[in-house]
Amino acid sequence: MSIQAIWNGLYEKAVHNSRTSFESVPGVALGFHSTIDGLKRVVPQKIENILAEDPALAEEVLNRLGNVPTEICTPADLLVGLIDSLQNGKALQLMIREETTYNWIMEHLGYDNLRMGGTSGNMANSLAPLPLPKLLVYANPLTKEQAELFVDSDNLFVLNADGKLQSPQTAWRGEGIYAIHWIFEYPQGLKLNVGDKVIQAPRANRFIAAWNPINNKLQLEPNFVKHLPRIADDFSHFIISGFHILSEEYPDGTTWETYLRPVARFLRETKKEHPDLRLHYEFASIASPSIRKGIVDHILPTVDSLGLNEMELAAVLRDREEPELAEEIEKQSSMAAVLRGLERLADGTGLRRIQLHDLGYYLALVEQDYVSGELCRDGMLFGAVLAASRSSIGKVGTWDEILTGLEVPLAKGTEARLQALSKALECDEFAGTGIGRKNGRYIVFVPTKIVEDPVLTVGLGDLISSSAFILG
Ligand code: ADP
Repeated sequence: MSIQAIWNGLYEKAVHNSRTSFESVPGVALGFHSTIDGLKRVVPQKIENILAEDPALAEEVLNRLGNVPTEICTPADLLVGLIDSLQNGKALQLMIREETTYNWIMEHLGYDNLRMGGTSGNMANSLAPLPLPKLLVYANPLTKEQAELFVDSDNLFVLNADGKLQSPQTAWRGEGIYAIHWIFEYPQGLKLNVGDKVIQAPRANRFIAAWNPINNKLQLEPNFVKHLPRIADDFSHFIISGFHILSEEYPDGTTWETYLRPVARFLRETKKEHPDLRLHYEFASIASPSIRKGIVDHILPTVDSLGLNEMELAAVLRDREEPELAEEIEKQSSMAAVLRGLERLADGTGLRRIQLHDLGYYLALVEQDYVSGELCRDGMLFGAVLAASRSSIGKVGTWDEILTGLEVPLAKGTEARLQALSKALECDEFAGTGIGRKNGRYIVFVPTKIVEDPVLTVGLGDLISSSAFILG
């Protein structure tokens, strides 16, 4: 049988079995933040008018062009950041520090439309269509505007003020937008006049300005902290993400560590009281090496499982003084190097499960007493079908729509990757099973499906990791 035929057969079987597997999962909790994304198309005329009406602001912006601030305190900081991103066609994200500036942006620029933001909020909306009995999502502050962005689904809940599960659509308190991540999008070629300069975007991209004072300091909602331990026995999985919006330092002299440690403690105590609750941390792209290291040192010891992509693995290895291995992973996409990198990370952290996703394959290392190799593989196969269908139609649809992901062809390079790993693991059957054994762990590989013209890829990594973790 050809490799294609073998894997198509494995895919069919895995997806067929996954429906009842989802139905039998007691409950999945998602933390720690949901927010509101405010999409705003950059309209040059509007910015030119703002500058024309305020000559002092225009002069300051002009003088500071090219010196991007580390955070946004004033309207000038916002405009300097936005113009810099536009001029270079480079994505840039800055936190807004001052409420007066948040009000200024709302008044002068506003937003075109709102959509769900934050990793937990997005995961909740993507996982809710699956046949999962119970999903609990963390959302603070949960105002009417935030609540309306959650999909209306019978299996989706927040913790209300009495510590009971309630639908976000009825549990919200108060109205208003207290946190918003502005996404200023601009197309290639957009021209903006600043003084006597004409700034032009070399490519389409976005500038993100985030006002999120509570979640930027990871201030866990007291109600959630109080009630989650009481109901945690009703849940089997807890997926944690979202620490990428921490700042290195805050104006009041505190640092990321001030806020990360109490969260680590909460996770550690929750796990101690509920050892059967499986915790997964989903990595994100984090520019600050100290915050990245802080997550490795404080958060990873509290969780069972980790999800990350190849760039994130390389960044973590670089932080662990493994620059050559990091480079091999980044530049050559060598399977043997990716495997070695994951092994170093698993050895160094004691994580029981690590799942890496890259374009064309996923690779997991899992302790043999955590789950069987087959269950781990089948969870990842389902994740790949879900990712393929969501890339094709832009959303997680009905079960029949999810099944269309099966029709997407396997990634090119699958055979070479399987051969490289068979050799590294000295295991001949590997190409036909994707499951090998080494040092008390299963090494599990799945070739994935790649959609040629994807409609939507943002947040795909989170979806792949969370669905595969729940099933496997
Ligand atoms: P995000 O941070 O947006 O969640 P990641 O970079 O962590 O994204 O993960 C994106 C993953 O999505 C890739 O590793 C790959 O496995 C998958 N993916 C990306 N593009 C496609 C595509 N066109 N078809 C199928 N899968 C894709």
